[in-house]
Amino acid sequence: MRIGTGYDVHRLVSGRKLVLGGVTIPFEKGLLGHSDADVLVHSVCDALLGAAGLGDIGLHFPDTDPEFKDIYSMKLLAMTYKLVSERGFSIVNADATVFAEAPKLFPYREEMRKNIADILETGAERINIKATTTEGLGMIGKGEGIGAMSVVLIDG
Ligand code: MG
Repeated sequence: MRIGTGYDVHRLVSGRKLVLGGVTIPFEKGLLGHSDADVLVHSVCDALLGAAGLGDIGLHFPDTDPEFKDIYSMKLLAMTYKLVSERGFSIVNADATVFAEAPKLFPYREEMRKNIADILETGAERINIKATTTEGLGMIGKGEGIGAMSVVLIDG
């Protein structure tokens, strides 16, 4: 068994789609980034890479590479999972928390879980997604960005 953690933050701006856990969520702003800036999926990728001892997302998918411009981050998760699974690892479970003042993410939680579980070839009951605000405090509380933290356990 091996464990890894992931953490990511992206800035919220006008004129971008908000994509979290592979779900496009109606909101007046979206996350800025080289990819679709799916902060939740990025934190899961980093946790997977961390557990397998394979570095981090920036090492494998640099934000200077045009191949990854505006890429759907579920594709990055699929590529990350390939790196991990071809080394003989499978997913035990993943637990993630999204930090966002708005919008409310609860209605999208099950779809996010299923999206991530499908890519990781596991059941949705092994993927947990939580959401919290920061009670109006700091950059996330002011609505300047959204953050995410993940832990993934792998076996192999
Ligand atoms: Mg990121």
